[in-house]
Amino acid sequence: MSGIYIHIPYCKKACSYCDFHFSTNLNNKPELVKSLLQEIDLRHNYLNNNTLQSVYFGGGTPSLLSFDELFQILNKIKQYFKFDNAIEITLECNPDDITEESLNNWLKLGINRLSVGLQSFNNDELLWMNRAHNAEQSLNCIEFAKKAGFKNISIDLIYGSKFQTENTWLSTIDTLLKLNIQHVSAYNLTIENGTLLGNALKKGKEPPINDDFCAWQFEKLSDKLTNDGFVHYEISNFGLPNFIAVHNSNYWKQKPYLGIGPSAHSYNLDSRQWNVKSNANYIQSLKNKKPFFEIETLSIENKFNEYIFTGLRTIWGCNLNDINSQFGEKYLDYCKSVLTKHKESFIQKENNFSLTTSGRLIADKLASEFFYLIKN
Ligand code: SF4
Repeated sequence: MSGIYIHIPYCKKACSYCDFHFSTNLNNKPELVKSLLQEIDLRHNYLNNNTLQSVYFGGGTPSLLSFDELFQILNKIKQYFKFDNAIEITLECNPDDITEESLNNWLKLGINRLSVGLQSFNNDELLWMNRAHNAEQSLNCIEFAKKAGFKNISIDLIYGSKFQTENTWLSTIDTLLKLNIQHVSAYNLTIENGTLLGNALKKGKEPPINDDFCAWQFEKLSDKLTNDGFVHYEISNFGLPNFIAVHNSNYWKQKPYLGIGPSAHSYNLDSRQWNVKSNANYIQSLKNKKPFFEIETLSIENKFNEYIFTGLRTIWGCNLNDINSQFGEKYLDYCKSVLTKHKESFIQKENNFSLTTSGRLIADKLASEFFYLIKN
């Protein structure tokens, strides 16, 4: 089983913290949609005709696509792939694009999961993030989606902004619990170079992120959501038991996926490839039958690093038997020595190991300990 990711590289506005690939100029959208269809034609064998467990429209802002554009893309996918009966079809959408008409269109197309880029319930914060929606839309869009018939709704939330205090964070968590949704993705704000916030930070116009406060926010969120029945199944992701995201979980479980569109990544167990990060170059390359991606064949070290890096992010963790059978005894011994050195950060059950909540706060550092040992 595998999944398809479609990258829709357009947004109404540039959010101040965002370093994803997108353009706010939508002029070439019709041409780009044609190129997406062309890429599916060209690369449908990438997954060896696997049955699809998930289709994920991400971005950018896929909710900027019309009914007809989404229909053409889904139709093209259906030409080549068999859909699993329980297929998850996710559309990332922004609150300002959620209307009665758009919701009904998405349902008609078979989209059965919405991932709403809600981010905050605070108007000042939304303005500072340069989002295209306001707090009222954050609150109302979920009710609209539920009324229309969506039964699997996820929201994105950002923590770590200068607007948040202990009290506002606790009330944000209360508000989100009252929405009665099935899934939450919560991201720690990072200030990347080249973003509006990154530039402001460089000029001293923005304070740096307070990591200790972020750690407190993360732990509070994890406590409150798990007390309310959510499973904290990946560092940034919480789902009710039957609503663990299929598409993203398959990334972390290292299942193959095909990524379509500018900047999209693909993985087929032996290599990774990534498409050019420019809408114009992507369109031109496909038109002129020129290469539009780079490819890296994965060495055993790469595969091990990815296994550890993705596994440690999740509640399922990593498994010593799998490490032995996939990578051999040398890797097994390295892992055992790291586990002994950092035993307070791991939950170990038989041959499985995963991170404790406090271990998750330093997941990247712990993963790099495994990589360090392999390099040496
Ligand atoms: S809407 Fe999403 S992808 Fe677009 S700029 Fe904002 S955060 Fe980035």
